[in-house]
Amino acid sequence: MKVFKFGGASVKDADSVKNVAEVIKMFSNDELVVVVSAMGKTTNHLEELVQLYYDRQNWKDKLNWIKNFHIDISKNLFNKDHDIFERIESIFEGIEEYLENAKSKNYAEVYSEMVSQGELLSTRIVRSYINEHVKKAVWLDARKYIKTDFNYTDARVDWEITKRNIGSKIPAFAKDSIVVSQGFIGSNGEGKTTTLGREGSDFSAAIFATGLQAESVTVWKDVPGVMTADPRKMPEATVIPELKYTDAAEMTYYGASIIHPRTIKPLAQNKIKLYVRPFTAPENIGTVIGKGNAEKHPASFILKTKQVFIDFKVTDFTFIDEKKLSIIFNALDQLNIKINLMQNSAVSFSICIDKKFDKVENLVEILKNDFEIELRDNLELLTIIGYDDAAMKTLYHRDEIILEQKTKKVYHMLYVPEKIHKELSAQKAK
Ligand code: ASP
Ligand code: MG
Repeated sequence: MKVFKFGGASVKDADSVKNVAEVIKMFSNDELVVVVSAMGKTTNHLEELVQLYYDRQNWKDKLNWIKNFHIDISKNLFNKDHDIFERIESIFEGIEEYLENAKSKNYAEVYSEMVSQGELLSTRIVRSYINEHVKKAVWLDARKYIKTDFNYTDARVDWEITKRNIGSKIPAFAKDSIVVSQGFIGSNGEGKTTTLGREGSDFSAAIFATGLQAESVTVWKDVPGVMTADPRKMPEATVIPELKYTDAAEMTYYGASIIHPRTIKPLAQNKIKLYVRPFTAPENIGTVIGKGNAEKHPASFILKTKQVFIDFKVTDFTFIDEKKLSIIFNALDQLNIKINLMQNSAVSFSICIDKKFDKVENLVEILKNDFEIELRDNLELLTIIGYDDAAMKTLYHRDEIILEQKTKKVYHMLYVPEKIHKELSAQKAK
């Protein structure tokens, strides 16, 4: 059994869906479970829809736009009397009815129910197309199999029940059909829709693979594999042919967007290989992540934007000690903030974190009475894993380095990006 995952970019229009069918055709003799994300940027549009709804603004135009997007794609894939059109129609009627009656429900619950529609739509369309052009395909509702807690927007999986559901029912479907199901979604004990966090479809593929004890998961992407850097930012980036689970996990920890961070653990625990391959050149093998005896992989560059540097200074002429640190760490824990980099001196402790939601403001609010706080916004954090002389030579001059750190294996540099730096100097010159 193999599990495939196709993300939003691989089903963003009719030609892409045809390409997905071509890829699947290459493997149609295998038992396949295919996990698909919402088409293109549909999830973003659905998030905006929910926002408009809660802001009591006109959400119907947005809904119509999303509907037309799916109908237009389908028109290029099916005859006009195909029953997919009725299906799409009824999904959108369902959405409208839900929103019109949802007034009293809580935001997170409405969010998950609405945003999950993207995956429900895309999988209906993809399943129908594969069924017509590749091989008999069945559509399964992932919510019947993946069971979670009541955290609607970042749900945790109940592994016991989920593994049992998947393992006991899906293999029979996969015997003679291609199974198509949704990424990103599950349901809780009340049967209500939950979501696994943005970009969570990779994780869904790992969940299905775990329940099925599959031989591998393949994530089909718009890049040639896991690369030594983001090729849009560093054209000299190359594919890393083989990675160990731990190396891949380390890369996601430092912010590489190769794969959803929660994906690796269940695969490593169950010794399921993970392939990252290009859907535009499916004959290429891309990257394989496994137990492997991969030699040290080449230096890899990871860039995180929207970083904030925060310095906490003691105000009472004492030093930074364990008590003071625990005040800071408690606040970080309370707000669920991950530290990307930290450093201390005698009188201050500094951290670098992502600028996300209103977490920075809330952190300052909690700690402002205990410390003198200084903030630097709009920074970038470059991490090089397995740096060597050659990697260090590629670092072009950055105008202002805020913090630099090295361990034996990992190098970090937090700096003001040039563009911002120029803006700042222009402001000062005025
Ligand atoms: N469609 C969801 C998102 O865009 C899940 C995914 O793509 O993995 O976040
Ligand atoms: Mg997506």
